[in-house]
Amino acid sequence: MHEQSIVEYLLSLALKDAEKANARRIVSIKLVVGELTGVEKDAVTFYFNFLAEKTIAAGASLEFNYTKAQLRCRDCDLIFPREKLSYDCPICRKKAVEIVGGRELYIDSMEVE
Ligand SMILES: [Zn+2]
Repeated sequence: MHEQSIVEYLLSLALKDAEKANARRIVSIKLVVGELTGVEKDAVTFYFNFLAEKTIAAGASLEFNYTKAQLRCRDCDLIFPREKLSYDCPICRKKAVEIVGGRELYIDSMEVE
């Protein structure tokens, strides 16, 4: 599953950081998730609880901050948030756009004890 490998990766980063900080426990983790990643909150929470069980991250709460898809028009360089399912530039109406945001997925911050 897509989410399982993502959670394994994020958890390993969180545990490494916690170790560096000499933490005994990870209390909470704030995640930034781009809407285009298709990552489901419920699935992430499920795998996190499962994978973190025997680590110092067990019981940590997860906070999700979803970021909107950002598109850039190749024609006029305008950067705009994607509205609904449209990929048209709101200025020149062209569809020649590239995705410049919304695919990110990272740990924004975390709280340890
Ligand atoms: Zn444009």
